[in-house]
Amino acid sequence: MLCGGLLCIVCTDLRGKSRKKITFFGILRLKLDIRCHFYIVKPITEIYGLLDQPRKVVITMHQKPDADALGSALGLHHCLVQLGHQVTVVSPTNWPRFLNWMPDSAKVLDFEGMADKALKVIGEAEWVFCLDFNILSRTKRMAPLLESLTSTKILIDHHEQPQTGQFAYGISDPGKSSTSEMVYDFIVHSGHGDKINEKIAECLYAGVMADTGSFRFPITSAAVHRMVADLKDRGLKHSIVHENIYDNFLENKLRFTGHVLLNRMEIFYEYNAALISIPKSDLLKFDITTGDTEGLVNYPLSIQGIRMAGLVIDRDEERKWSFRSKGNVDVNTFARQYFNGGGHFNASGGRSTETLAQNVAAFKKALQENLQTLQPEYPISVNND
Ligand code: 5GP
Ligand code: MN
Repeated sequence: MLCGGLLCIVCTDLRGKSRKKITFFGILRLKLDIRCHFYIVKPITEIYGLLDQPRKVVITMHQKPDADALGSALGLHHCLVQLGHQVTVVSPTNWPRFLNWMPDSAKVLDFEGMADKALKVIGEAEWVFCLDFNILSRTKRMAPLLESLTSTKILIDHHEQPQTGQFAYGISDPGKSSTSEMVYDFIVHSGHGDKINEKIAECLYAGVMADTGSFRFPITSAAVHRMVADLKDRGLKHSIVHENIYDNFLENKLRFTGHVLLNRMEIFYEYNAALISIPKSDLLKFDITTGDTEGLVNYPLSIQGIRMAGLVIDRDEERKWSFRSKGNVDVNTFARQYFNGGGHFNASGGRSTETLAQNVAAFKKALQENLQTLQPEYPISVNND
């Protein structure tokens, strides 16, 4: 179901309790799963008037945070601190080391590495901002704790199908390029645009740049460019951020990328699709750490005619999937249907506890089942020059 503007629904609690009124907030294209929605989610705008009173605040995001997750969290952190709040950013897991340039990233608590400290601040927080994820399970081992909290959880996110039943306030807008863009809107719309300094600008720019593929994906709206122009006016040095994100790897990552593209990529021209599958032995051989595999899934899409790419990595406890697509190939649904995941229409992820070989076989079978939708929208003219 698609909706725009403010939508109110009354539905029956499936657990047989009383009927409750559910308010969804002013967004476009929010898809509703009635079974999940037992609680009232108030619009994010209702938080604006409450920002003046100092509070203990935790900001968290999805596990293995990327530039958008960490950038939006730190950007919001730098704003809320200026407003007098006591703010701690807690990441469910560690993050790629190439994000360590982000201002105050050293103060971020890693829930897995510093459980006691993190538990304490989360337990004491009055507000918990949940950024860049749609369902609590995306916070991995932190999920049961978040679920049990009685403090106020506030969602700011741009993924499809949010688990709205978990949040007191929120905005979920899959039409937005990134959570960083939404945090920028939050700061400006709440009347605190004057607080945007160089630190905030760097964090938010990193997030929007990463999630828009350096401003090339169709989701890159005029509003995104207006935001960047405003950040520039406030002192942003964008090329430094770009270098920090894209020219900040160790040699082993590049050599690993070469190896993977040569030896681990399969192209299925009949389905306009590609697969990269990476065994555990490769990760060990090239000493791969968090973040070193980011971006790999995009490479096959640069081949003429390829409209869908899957990447599966043999991690310790699970096989982790990433999917990317072009045009009308819906990898959000694909990830949900076959690999216990989700995300966005053209970028999603999933997971499986089956072996790498079983995952590869499942992907190939799924391609066969989706032959219709994988056909090109337009005939591809192959240039053999
Ligand atoms: P990535 O491939 O960069 O890990 O993820 C692509 C997009 O899909 C991101 O927006 C990410 O948050 C989302 N995503 C990745 N893995 C999962 C998953 O297992 N479940 C869900 N629901 N979303 C995922
Ligand atoms: Mn994001």
